[in-house]
Amino acid sequence: MTTRSLKASNAHFQKAIKRLPLGVSSNFRYWGDDRTLYVKRGKGARLWDLDGNEYIDYRLGYGPSILGYADDRVNEAAREGMEVGGVFALATELEYQVADRISKMVPAAELVRFSVSGTEAVMAALRLARAYTGKDEYVLVEGGYHGVFSEGLWYAEVEDWDEKEGDPELMPYSDGVPALYSHLIYSVPLNDPNRVERLFKRHGDTIAAFMVEPMMGNCCAITADRQYLKDVRWLCNKYDVVLIIDEVKTGFRVARGGVQELMGVSADLCTFAKAMANGYPISALAGKQEIMRLIGDGVVHGGTYTGHSVSLAAANKTLEILDETPTLANIATTGRQLRDAIGKILTRRGIPHCFVGHPAMSGLFFAPTPPTSYRDWVNTDYTIYDALAPNLHDLGILVEPDSREPWFLCAAHDEACVTETVTKFEQALDLTLDQLKHPDGESAAN
Ligand code: PLP
Repeated sequence: MTTRSLKASNAHFQKAIKRLPLGVSSNFRYWGDDRTLYVKRGKGARLWDLDGNEYIDYRLGYGPSILGYADDRVNEAAREGMEVGGVFALATELEYQVADRISKMVPAAELVRFSVSGTEAVMAALRLARAYTGKDEYVLVEGGYHGVFSEGLWYAEVEDWDEKEGDPELMPYSDGVPALYSHLIYSVPLNDPNRVERLFKRHGDTIAAFMVEPMMGNCCAITADRQYLKDVRWLCNKYDVVLIIDEVKTGFRVARGGVQELMGVSADLCTFAKAMANGYPISALAGKQEIMRLIGDGVVHGGTYTGHSVSLAAANKTLEILDETPTLANIATTGRQLRDAIGKILTRRGIPHCFVGHPAMSGLFFAPTPPTSYRDWVNTDYTIYDALAPNLHDLGILVEPDSREPWFLCAAHDEACVTETVTKFEQALDLTLDQLKHPDGESAAN
């Protein structure tokens, strides 16, 4: 039951379901037949649904909106990009300018190629790693997510796993993913360098790539140790394995140079999307010259919509702002304020918790010490969060119902947003605790 009116969204759902599977364009946007939201518009850190309900948004489209929705500066640049004409099956000047900016912000990005989505950039990275090494297999980290392509849509079944029976089984996220890919994939828990070493010792001659999100943007922002990354970097060099750092969520969000800057590690190949154009569709595959030069020298990369003039113009402006102003530091400060205030509310109620990841991309973990891998995460109790999220939605605070998704902050989250969020968080939490205590509906308030 929701206490908001979702009459217009629900009526639209009944129409949309007739033409769109689940009534939406991504499975993750379907929240149930009577809770799926349809957005009228977004501005800054807020959005409005078809019923006129206003929300302070901490999902931000899973991260792209780093400056806030419909940022005037980026929209003006995008309009100029529109005048350029879109796509031509030819290159434009701005590609160099944006690539040059990325290279200066991220030292590992010696060369850059643009795609449209994060998925495409990661697919290209994997192909390039194989071409470079002449090997086919690759390593994924448990709890990671790299996009909607068959080679990446695999996960380690940690949730129903019994440690005594060895490693968790590798499962496809989707029907239709060919089982044959499972023969190419190894999966390891984060932060266990010995596992990586043992794996490389046995299979290093057939492994092309190690793919990792050092701050897991799809898994409570669980974070790699600096030493772990150093060890992995060293092992990749030793065994001729390409280190792919997927910065689709962390890139241009957690630092100007992404998670690589924060952790002092340099990838062979890295991928960016989301925050780089404040929501306009563009992604980048970047990396070492020696590997990237294989593009055009045996390796195919392209696509009709790559280097679209609107997205490039938006990326150019967004990156200029992130690079030349203290925007990211300000977002982190706001994120810390929010963490502190929410932390106090939880502590006052004796709820063990900690924050994981980065203040601009915060995981809320219900245990006193942060998880070191997905295996820790599945052993915690998320009952409170699961019940809390819908209550927050009813009060106009939009967080992801899936507790694995971090809370994202943008430059438009101002003091007023934080104050309102904290007040409503406390209200929603008390309601949630009451509901959990009285599951039969006999609330203390009655
Ligand atoms: N890599 C990571 C780390 C992601 O979080 C995502 C999407 O959430 C992707 C890749 C895929 O990006 P896209 O959804 O733009 O295809």
